[in-house]
Amino acid sequence: MNRWQTWRYTVAFAVLYVLLNVWLVRHAGMHRLAVTYIFQLTAPWLAFVACCKVVRRSSARVRLYWSMFALALFFWCSGISFAAWDDLTQVNTNGRVASYADLAYYFYGLPILLVIASPTRAERRSLFIWLDGFQALMTGVLVYVTFFSVLPFMHQHEPASITLVTRAYDIENLFLACGVSLRLLALNEHGGTRRFFGVMAAFLWVYAIFASIYNHLYIVLQDGMGAYNSLSAIPFLALCVMLALSLREREEETVAAMDLLDRPVALFIENASPVFYTVALFVLAIVQIPQHYPLGVTMLALALVIYGIRVITLQGRHMRSERELRETRNWLEAMTLQDGLTGIANRRHFDNTLQGEWNRGIRTRQPLSLLLIDIDYFKKLNDTYGHLAGDRCLVELAAALREMVPRSGDLLARYGGEEFAVILTSTDSAGAQLLAGRICSVISGLNVAEPGALPWTITLSIGVATVLWPTVKEAPHELIDEADRALYDAKRNGRNRVEIFQQTSDRMMRETG
Ligand code: GH3
Ligand code: MG
Ligand code: MG
Repeated sequence: MNRWQTWRYTVAFAVLYVLLNVWLVRHAGMHRLAVTYIFQLTAPWLAFVACCKVVRRSSARVRLYWSMFALALFFWCSGISFAAWDDLTQVNTNGRVASYADLAYYFYGLPILLVIASPTRAERRSLFIWLDGFQALMTGVLVYVTFFSVLPFMHQHEPASITLVTRAYDIENLFLACGVSLRLLALNEHGGTRRFFGVMAAFLWVYAIFASIYNHLYIVLQDGMGAYNSLSAIPFLALCVMLALSLREREEETVAAMDLLDRPVALFIENASPVFYTVALFVLAIVQIPQHYPLGVTMLALALVIYGIRVITLQGRHMRSERELRETRNWLEAMTLQDGLTGIANRRHFDNTLQGEWNRGIRTRQPLSLLLIDIDYFKKLNDTYGHLAGDRCLVELAAALREMVPRSGDLLARYGGEEFAVILTSTDSAGAQLLAGRICSVISGLNVAEPGALPWTITLSIGVATVLWPTVKEAPHELIDEADRALYDAKRNGRNRVEIFQQTSDRMMRETG
C-alpha cells in the first residue's frame, strides 16, 4: 500500500468514525456524554494496543523507541480516562481527578522528549542513557511541581485560565512535533528507525493540528458534548492506520545511508538533539525560580552539571579517539616502510633514505657509501630445504646484519628477494670496505640449516660503492648502479667476497676537482 492509499483509508476511516459519533450522540438522549466519551476513549486506547503490538514485533534496536511511544500513549489514555471518570461519575473530588487527568496529559510529552533526546548512534553508551534517565526524572519532578503550584488553575481562588492552559498544550505539541521531525531529518539510517521516526512525526503533527482546533472549539463553543469532540480521536485513528501498516511491513535491517559528515545539517541536528532535554529542563527550572527558589536553582545547577558531564565525556572520548587515530596512522606509516618478512626497512624506505642522504651530502660535502649484499647460491638453499627454510634464513640474516649496522645514521634495508642494502652516511670507501669485509666474514659462519638436517652455511657477495660527496649533477641511482656492478664482479670473481667499485678517472676528477 502506498502513501496515498494510506491516507485515503485513514480519511475514510476517520470520516466514518466521526459521522457515527455525531449520529449516535444525536440519538443518545441523556447518554450523550457517555457516548461522546466512548468515542473519545476508543481511538487512543486502540492506538495504544496497536503500539504495544508493534513493540512486541519490533527488533531490539527500535523496541525502546516504540516502548517510549506506547508509554506516551498510555499517559494520554490515562488522562482521557481520568477525565471521563470525573465527568461521568459526577463525584465531587474537588478537582483532584481532573488534575490527575491534566497531569497525565502533561506526562505524555516526557517519553517523547526522551526519544528526541535519546543518545544518537555515536553516543549510544550506558553513561548517556543514565544521564538521560536522570534528566527525565528531574523533568518529571519539575513538571509535577510546575503543574501543582505555578499553573493558575491549581490551588487558586480565581477560575482557571483555560486559554493559558491550552496555549501551553499547543506549545508542548509543537515543540514535540518539531523535535521529532528534526530527528527524522537528521536520521542517517534506512529501515526500522526511520519508519519509527516517520510514524511518530506524522502523528505528532496531526495531533498538534487537531488538538489546537479542538481546544479552540472547546473554548469558543463551551459545549462539552458537541460533535467537535470526535476531532480529538482523528490523530489516534490516523496513528492506528499507520501502526497497522507498520505491522504489515517486514522489519528491515537498519542500515546507515551515507556518511553523516557529508550532511552538515544532519550532523548539526544529531549533535544538538541531546541539548533539547537540557533546554527543556532549563526552561522548567527557570519557571520554578520565582515560587520555589531553592528547587529551581538546584535543578538549574543539576541540568548544567549533567550537560557538563556530557561535554567532558565527549571531549575525553574525542581526545582518546584522536590519539588512537594518530597511533594507527603512525603504525600504518611504519608498515609502509617496513619489510613484512624481516622487519627491517623495505625498498621504499631505502629509496627515500638514499635520496634524503644524497641531498644532505650535497649540503654537508660528506662522503656516502652503499653496500649491496647478495646471498650466494640461495636458490639451492630454497631447492634443498624449501621456501620456508629460505625465509627463515632471510630473517636470521637480517637480524645478524642489524647487529652489525648499529649506527643510527646508517640504514639496513631489504633491497629485494635475497638482496640487502646498507646506506653508510659520512663513510668513505675505506670505512665501507672495512664493514663489508667484517659482514662477509661474520656471516660466512652463519649456520642456517633446518634442525636435524645437514649444516648449511651461507656466504655473501658484497658490492661497495662510495661517492666522496654527492652533487646535483648526479643522482642516487648512479651509486646503486656502481654498487651493483661491484656486486656483479664479486659474483664473477668467485663469490663470498667483497668488491669495490673502481671510480673512473673522469668521475674522480669531477669529485676532487
Ligand atoms: P647467486 O649466487 O648467483 O646469487 O645465486 P642465487 O641462487 O642466489 O641466484 P639468484 O640471486 O638469481 O636467486 C635468488 C633466489 O632467491 C630466487 C628466489 O626464488 C629466491 N628468493 C627471492 N625472494 C625470496 C624470499 O622472500 N623467500 C625465499 N625463500 N626465497 C626467495
Ligand atoms: Mg640475487
Ligand atoms: Mg643470490
